[in-house]
Amino acid sequence: MKTQQKYPRVFSFEFFPPKTEEAAENLRRTLGKLAPLKPRFCSVTFGAGGSTREKTFETALEIQQTTGIECAPHLSCIASTRQSIREILEAYRSHGIRHIVALRGDMPSGMLSAGEFRYANELVAFIRSETGNHFHIDVACYPEVHPQAASAESDLKNFKRKVDAGADSAITQYFYNPEAYFRFVDDCERLGIDIPIVPGIMPITNYSQLARFSDMCGADIPRWIRKRLEAFGDDRKSIRAFGLDVVADLCRRLLERGAPGLHFYTLNRADASLDVWNALGLGSA
Ligand code: FAD
Repeated sequence: MKTQQKYPRVFSFEFFPPKTEEAAENLRRTLGKLAPLKPRFCSVTFGAGGSTREKTFETALEIQQTTGIECAPHLSCIASTRQSIREILEAYRSHGIRHIVALRGDMPSGMLSAGEFRYANELVAFIRSETGNHFHIDVACYPEVHPQAASAESDLKNFKRKVDAGADSAITQYFYNPEAYFRFVDDCERLGIDIPIVPGIMPITNYSQLARFSDMCGADIPRWIRKRLEAFGDDRKSIRAFGLDVVADLCRRLLERGAPGLHFYTLNRADASLDVWNALGLGSA
């Protein structure tokens, strides 16, 4: 954890682009509660294969312009051409965006062509070759190993490719076992990876949704957490109280051992992230 302890802490919130005007209003209310915490940045996800290209852009701009907080649109490269990525980078640059979360993404169902990029390291290299150091580039990493990786070691080496291509920092997939993060960071140090690796935090509010997400992205819900959440059934209040306890404790342990901040997957809702934030006594970051 030595390399991580030297970095200043960065707190951030992730949102997805709303599909309807009602959802956009909900996001504005969420921002009304989270922006006063003064996160270092907010990020906005990018739909598989560019399906939210315009919405991601509009949402990122609206957040940046209305809150004054730096906004980092995510950009995934699978099924994209170099020219289409070039156009997006140019649009971001000309509208004052300086931070990107660069990803490979997952192939959307029904889409057959993988496009001109195979992996996220190629996207990072392309962003650097097209725009130099204009953008701060975040990339994804996986303390519990990406589900398609051949092995933990090869996944780690593939993460290093993104760092070598010019990534400035990384955000992890969410996890509930802090030891997975500590070991991952130590393994990164061993390989000479020296950028901030910020834990991604998924608050717990809804067990069936969390179980579905976790199956898809390869995040492990430890048995003792699963069993308790299952036992609560439809009792949302108990799920939230237990979830808050578990997630706040996780965050506390991460920060105490030197994690350089936290990135909250808010799912466009303020309360669960806010509760964790307050339980940690973070005040205005
Ligand atoms: P990569 O780093 O390219 O890795 C993908 C897989 O390929 C891994 O198994 C890796 O080990 C392997 N690999 C990498 N490079 C090589 C290589 N050169 N040779 C052989 N194998 C290689 N998805 C979205 O669609 N939109 C989003 O907005 C979004 N935001 C995310 C934000 C965060 C913080 C995280 C953690 C994930 C996010 N995702 C998002 C999910 C992400 O797109 C998927 O996890 C995707 O499957 C992998 O993306 P990546 O950028 O990590 O890919």
